[in-house]
Amino acid sequence: MNSKTKYTQCIKSEAKRLGFLSCGISKAEFLEQEAPRLEKWLNQNMHGEMQYMENHFDKRLDPTKLVDDSKSVISLLLNYFPSEKQKDSEAPKLSKYAYGTDYHFVIKDKLKQLLHFIEEEIGDVQGRAFVDSAPVLDKAWAAKSGLGWIGKNSNLLTQQVGSFYFIAELIIDLDLEYDTPVTDHCGTCTACIDACPTQAIVEPYVVDGSKCISYFTIELKEEIPNSYKNQFDDWMFGCDVCQDVCPWNRFSKPHNEPLFNPKPELLEMSKKDWQEITQEVFSKVFQKSAVKRTKFSGLKRNIDFLFED
Ligand code: SF4
Ligand code: SF4
Repeated sequence: MNSKTKYTQCIKSEAKRLGFLSCGISKAEFLEQEAPRLEKWLNQNMHGEMQYMENHFDKRLDPTKLVDDSKSVISLLLNYFPSEKQKDSEAPKLSKYAYGTDYHFVIKDKLKQLLHFIEEEIGDVQGRAFVDSAPVLDKAWAAKSGLGWIGKNSNLLTQQVGSFYFIAELIIDLDLEYDTPVTDHCGTCTACIDACPTQAIVEPYVVDGSKCISYFTIELKEEIPNSYKNQFDDWMFGCDVCQDVCPWNRFSKPHNEPLFNPKPELLEMSKKDWQEITQEVFSKVFQKSAVKRTKFSGLKRNIDFLFED
């Protein structure tokens, strides 16, 4: 076995040991196919007020501009599919990824451990860890690395476990063996397009971010436009509709990361509890949670938008 094969196997088995669902590797190079797609999406203003999407256009498409002498992009998936859901079927809904501790912390920690392992086992390797934070097109890299295909709802899908997982990357200056993409298995299905409450999937594989409930409930700083009243299907933070209806998600299996378990009271809260939520309850229920991003005022705005006339 040559050293490239050995290092590749060694990294993949450590990723498994650390709890990642899967690990795929691509050569760090310019994302040629993505470039025109990203440019068109930005030109059509589908990023709404997410100004940060416009930044670092070159870096987004070329990892060698992010990490000096980078050779490989290691993509990793971490399952967050919960075993339990919110109890009150009338309560405003929270996207499943936000149930537990903020994934940025959980994943960063695992990525650091993986990088440390690589340095220990292989030697002087330079690299950087990315979790939804820097300008990396994580779905494109994961697809290029054979971890799944990008579905018509623009999520990464796998035949084995659907799409409820986080995607993260290590970009390192070590040559490794590279994986190849898998086939698209969306076929003639249009379930996600048909079910999207705001018709944000404007054509297969294109989500207009500026029409997506996740954007309105998490990214938008101002008031939610009244024209969207009664269209949010009771989502107060994020939206899982296009994943919930995806037939591949019947293969989702519960995660085994204790930090992703929600505080019990979060699942217990009734519609009335949410409507009456105070800053104090918010701080308790969402301590260390990604929901803190909207702050109390943002979540309250979303809840009021759902239930007030
Ligand atoms: S997350 Fe919700 S609003 Fe956004 S595209 Fe999917 S179904 Fe539509
Ligand atoms: S719902 Fe159907 S079309 Fe949409 S991503 Fe899933 S398989 Fe593809």
